[in-house]
Amino acid sequence: MDRSQQLFDRAVKVLPGGVNSPVRAFRAVDLCPRFIQSAHGAYIYDTDGHKYIDYVCSWGPMLLGHDHPAIREAVERAVKDGLSFGAPTEREVEMAELMVEMVPNIEMVRMVNSGTEAVMSAIRLARGATGRDKIVKFEGCYHGHSDCLLVNAGSSALAGGHPSSAGVPEDIVKHTLTAQFNRLDTVEALFGQWPGQIACVIVEPVAANMGVVAPEKGFLEGLRALCDRHGALLIFDEVITGFRLAPGGAQAYFGVRADLVTFGKIIGGGMPVGAYCGSRALMEQVAPCGPVYQAGTLSGNPVAMAAGLAQLRYIRAHPELYAGLEQYAEELAAGMRRAAAAHHAPVAVNQIGSLIAPFFTPTEVTTFVDAKGSDVGMYARYFKGMLERGVYLAPAQFEAMFVSAAHGREELEQTLEAVDGALAAL
Ligand SMILES: *Cc1c(COP(=O)(O)O)cnc(C)c1O
Repeated sequence: MDRSQQLFDRAVKVLPGGVNSPVRAFRAVDLCPRFIQSAHGAYIYDTDGHKYIDYVCSWGPMLLGHDHPAIREAVERAVKDGLSFGAPTEREVEMAELMVEMVPNIEMVRMVNSGTEAVMSAIRLARGATGRDKIVKFEGCYHGHSDCLLVNAGSSALAGGHPSSAGVPEDIVKHTLTAQFNRLDTVEALFGQWPGQIACVIVEPVAANMGVVAPEKGFLEGLRALCDRHGALLIFDEVITGFRLAPGGAQAYFGVRADLVTFGKIIGGGMPVGAYCGSRALMEQVAPCGPVYQAGTLSGNPVAMAAGLAQLRYIRAHPELYAGLEQYAEELAAGMRRAAAAHHAPVAVNQIGSLIAPFFTPTEVTTFVDAKGSDVGMYARYFKGMLERGVYLAPAQFEAMFVSAAHGREELEQTLEAVDGALAAL
């Protein structure tokens, strides 16, 4: 029995499902999860001495690859100063200044400890600022695990076949209205049905928790116009897209303004961090300036700030890295499509920026309904084939592949060889 299996056998006795976050349990692919020993650059290494090209990248944070020296050294320096003070520090000011400089349309930042917290707080702020209760989200979009957003959610909530969750009262989710991504008419219908009652529309500007689905031309612009017309706020959940599509995130990439923007993942450089941001007028509604309460014992933690700052500073100094990421992803997606055609495998490959998703379906995927048409059993077999060939993918169909700046020519060729072998063996 290998070491990962031994650890998993111990883990299931003391951790629910053997893990601290459901998708890691490999249930959607019916395998024992690999326990990871270390990671460097584009590679992760498991406790059994296997080496994999990593396309999970901690679900997005490792934009520069694992163990980047700039981030590691910044963290080492911060650790020497102390781990937490529960009092303001210079790094928090620097972090907020840098985010305001890099991201369009934001004037103020509140740091929190996860993407879940960031989105939950942004929703509270939107409700507080508008005095309205209803929110609109999209089926298949994931915004963390807070109560009011666990409705028709994506990511592992989707893979596990639990569109929502036990323990979430009907009374709470009755204010959560769901629409269809890339279907503006479904949003318009909700505004018609609930006039003057919708506080905000929250969207992943690129849906990246149902696989990867890019917004069609006019969709985000249409949401902006609908929100303006009905006095609702538009929230971009950029926990994945922030600093990934572009240094300025999806707002910069698509040229659409959001009222509130949430971040996580990349802004922590691998440490647990989230943030919500917006105009001064909106953000000053938050305590201690305003009536919307939100707090955090470890928020703005100095070690987490050091990691995030180092990653964002590196990005600012090397904006050319985005062209490289995009080129890698385009070539990989094109190669995957060629391999699928050669082996007559029904695969639709979506790609935008450094995000890729192969859907095991013969049709195009532009909506959540299309995505749900995928053959998850076939994805599971493909996943296993890729793992055996040294490529670590998301262990579920409805997730993204993340490319990092450490992925180069050699990794691209090896990955395409693995894709060819895995599809041939399906
Ligand atoms: C991951 C994710 C979240 C939740 O972030 P956590 O740090 O896991 O709480 C929220 N929104 C989106 C779009 C995400 O991808």
